Amino acid sequence: MMQDKIKIEKLSDQVFYSHTNHKCDQPILGAIVGSSAVLMVDAGGHEEYLRQFLNFLKERNAPENVLLVLTHWHWDHVFGLAGYGNQIIAHSLTFARLNLLKQMALNSTDEKCWEKLGSQEEAHSYLLDLARCHVAWRDYGHIPLPDVLFDDSLEIDLGGVRCRIERVGGDHSEDSCVVRALDSEVVFLGDALYRSWGAEKRYSRKRLPDLIKRLVAYNAGTYLLAHEPTPLNLDHLLHWQNVVQKIKALDAEGGNVNFETLRKSNIIENATEQFFLELMGPIYD
Ligand SMILES: [Zn+2]
Repeated sequence: MMQDKIKIEKLSDQVFYSHTNHKCDQPILGAIVGSSAVLMVDAGGHEEYLRQFLNFLKERNAPENVLLVLTHWHWDHVFGLAGYGNQIIAHSLTFARLNLLKQMALNSTDEKCWEKLGSQEEAHSYLLDLARCHVAWRDYGHIPLPDVLFDDSLEIDLGGVRCRIERVGGDHSEDSCVVRALDSEVVFLGDALYRSWGAEKRYSRKRLPDLIKRLVAYNAGTYLLAHEPTPLNLDHLLHWQNVVQKIKALDAEGGNVNFETLRKSNIIENATEQFFLELMGPIYD
């Protein structure tokens, strides 16, 4: 299948990102460029996108030493690794999941093996997503496994340009990591701020406020959420933090929190229902 040409945007002299492509769930790819090395953020869902990005960097005479970090294990962030030969960095949980999937893809003839990933509903929902994007889960068998692993966080100096990779977890995937370009105040969020991808797509009341609080504390200028067409800023996060706090307050009063009650209480004045449904709710325990 012929892939579209990716559009790459410059955020600073050191940071670039590619636009999303909703047609095939293609997420943002990132590049942080130092004087001695480049850190790519995610591989995307198809090797062609990664190749295009690497060619773009080559044309700009970026260092040939390229490292790549995965934000989490989902197919649309890792399938681009097929045929990739450089170092791959990942959280140990991401490695464990990719390793399991690789073994399943290469050795198992039983589709039920997917239930090892979580609940039956979650596995079913994930497989439906793959089918919608015309992707075969057995392609996990072709993905090279990460070779540099970390547990909580990892700092890298790319030659005068500092990066910090942190596992933040969250509702979307327990291995979710963010990548901070410290000198440019840019944070690649991966999918960390999205809901869980199981049958019940949802946020937890416990995890979401903690995650937003942690991201706000970075006090960065730009936050890139992997499937959003435009970058976010600190004001967006502060707004969501405010909404979540008000939801918690309504909860404490014993109110039934849904879109209608939020609208009536002027919590989400300018937000559309779609915004609420997609980004803010429903929020469960
Ligand atoms: Zn994801």
